[in-house]
Amino acid sequence: MAKKALLNKKSMTFLEKYLNNASPTGYEWEGQKLWMNYLKPYVDTFITDTYGTAVGIINPKAPYKVVIEGHSDEISWYVNYITDNGLIYVIRNGGSDHQIAPSKCVNIHTKKGIVKGVFGWPAIHTRKSEKEEAPKLDNIFIDIGAKDKDEVEKMGVHVGCVITYPDEFHIMNKDKFVCRAIDNRAGGFMIAEVARLLHENKVDLPFGLYITNSVQEEIGLRGAQMITETIKPNVAIVTDVCHDTTTPMIEKKKQGHTEIGKGPVISYAPAVQNRLRELIIGTAEEKRIPFQRMASSRFTGTDTDAFAYSNGGVPSALISLPLRYMHTTVEMVHKNDVENVIRLIYETLLKIKPGDTFSYFD
Ligand SMILES: [Zn+2]
Repeated sequence: MAKKALLNKKSMTFLEKYLNNASPTGYEWEGQKLWMNYLKPYVDTFITDTYGTAVGIINPKAPYKVVIEGHSDEISWYVNYITDNGLIYVIRNGGSDHQIAPSKCVNIHTKKGIVKGVFGWPAIHTRKSEKEEAPKLDNIFIDIGAKDKDEVEKMGVHVGCVITYPDEFHIMNKDKFVCRAIDNRAGGFMIAEVARLLHENKVDLPFGLYITNSVQEEIGLRGAQMITETIKPNVAIVTDVCHDTTTPMIEKKKQGHTEIGKGPVISYAPAVQNRLRELIIGTAEEKRIPFQRMASSRFTGTDTDAFAYSNGGVPSALISLPLRYMHTTVEMVHKNDVENVIRLIYETLLKIKPGDTFSYFD
């Protein structure tokens, strides 16, 4: 494939719409509908499961099954407790960051629609300068402008409502994509773009391709755990985000060195099948796609683990998109990396042959 611009106007319109739509863990279906609608021209059929995972399939009758996967959910908060004077305390739904909460606007999702709120915070004037209190789960709170608990409830807000941030997609300095929930809406976007390229380049795959957008990754890889039992894949290539470790206060000795703009990040970890990973690395080298390496001890912490340790073991690999400021509302990735992850998955698929077991013993 020539290295011309890969993302077109239609893909960018979809990315923006897909990102701007809230898709909190456990409530992913509206986002899944947008995703399926975009993917529809490029696949033969879909399967969905009861918790909302969606899979677009090319060649559904083929016995050999390859998964490419991202996750559809985003971190959010739950309403946990409402005080008598109408303030709302929260618990996490995924790894939401208490440190960034104060002074953020929020959307509370209710049956009556979105209720706007703000994370309040004591004024600098009223705080004790010698002992600054850091934002913690038990001292951050949401104010929705209600005078008491009664009014909160009349507005449709109750314990169990989910809360997301309203921050929307924008492009900074031509090629940096900024938004909340690029983790991992970018994953769903990139695998959909792989399907689009396969279709546009009229590639006739010799296996079944399962373009999988899993729910509930942020609370422990749950959607992937469910759908891998349904698909029973022969191979799984997972994409998620990883940290750019070149911004302040990150210890590279602990976190390794990966950065935006330097290409997809290929993982080394027990859950990553070595021969599958070498196929990916060989492909990157042959096609001159820049890439970086990352090592994980024990777990990758991504859906890779869920696919790898299912069905008696599924050869799995992880290709990550480097990202700055993970789980904040200003997650940032480089457009070139997005394109290169798409290229790398696409080119790797062209090298997989039905029947490949990736066995170490053949
Ligand atoms: Zn995440």
